[in-house]
Amino acid sequence: MASVYEIIAIRYGHLDRTASHNFIGGDAHDGPMPLDYYVWAIRGAEGTWLLDTGFDAPTGAARGRQLVRPVEAGLRAVGIEPAEVREIIVSHMHYDHVGNHDLFPKARYHVQDDEMAFCTGRSMCHAVMRSPFEARDVQSMVGKLFAGRLKFHDGTATLAPGLTLHKVGGHTRGLQVVRVQTARGFVVLASDAAHFYANWLERRPFPIVDDVAAYLEAYEIIESLASSPQHVIPGHDPLVLRRYPRAVAGIDDIVRVDLPPLA
Ligand SMILES: [Zn+2]
Ligand SMILES: [Zn+2]
Repeated sequence: MASVYEIIAIRYGHLDRTASHNFIGGDAHDGPMPLDYYVWAIRGAEGTWLLDTGFDAPTGAARGRQLVRPVEAGLRAVGIEPAEVREIIVSHMHYDHVGNHDLFPKARYHVQDDEMAFCTGRSMCHAVMRSPFEARDVQSMVGKLFAGRLKFHDGTATLAPGLTLHKVGGHTRGLQVVRVQTARGFVVLASDAAHFYANWLERRPFPIVDDVAAYLEAYEIIESLASSPQHVIPGHDPLVLRRYPRAVAGIDDIVRVDLPPLA
């Protein structure tokens, strides 16, 4: 029997904005198009992995983002004690993916070589490139490196049977997506390779980008990794909460994306 995993998308943050902010070149209609912020828990017989660690309350407040539920509370709601988490996958180093530095004292962090080089290198000389990064996040990750808590990857890596990392770049230099075997097939957690379904399906990139051509190629990669388009989970789309069943009775914004979408 192949290893299959449960995948839980845990919303922790929210931002009201209009569509023109979500596409290169804006949007002709420019209606409301809010963002949600998630972390993802991947749980199976082989163990538990966390994809990304979100932002904390001070960082959210400083950037005008709403913290709807602290990340630690969302994790505890699904039975995960942050202090016991052993494995964290860093999709990329943007502030909304790598905060809450001290919440996971036992964890090892999986990051791409190119991402650490990007966020500590010359691209950060440019204000527009560094604006989605927090220096404190980068400093904290360097501290973890010197504490022996980083695992570097270069391209594709297998973390456990049925659980693989894939560097796609584009949005940031070393952005990685996660492919997870589930009872319904291979699900791809796209993180910021696809903020919204619309970015990906309409081939209209989100306006924070390192390399537009690589960003567009990433869509091809995530489609090739997923069992079907229904197996791609965007990183910031509120529609995910409507399309998938609740993981916990009575909580609307924690959902099981390893299960088939609701009709
Ligand atoms: Zn990002
Ligand atoms: Zn993001």
